[in-house]
Amino acid sequence: MPHVSVDLDVCEDHAQCVFAAPTVFRMNDDDRLEYDAEYDEDLRFDVQAAADSCPVQAIKLLD
Ligand code: SF4
Repeated sequence: MPHVSVDLDVCEDHAQCVFAAPTVFRMNDDDRLEYDAEYDEDLRFDVQAAADSCPVQAIKLLD
């Protein structure tokens, strides 16, 4: 399974990634980002779109 990493020290909780890939990224009850580090291969396009949409480039795709 492919992996994704988010630098939570850089993340500003804008949630664009949540809109792009809602099955991988979500906001918790404190409005902070949570995500699944492992995601299904079928979601690679959505996770790439999430990374592209992040205004602070906090999301890195790992294989
Ligand atoms: S789009 Fe970027 S800054 Fe916004 S919640 Fe996602 S990782 Fe954080």
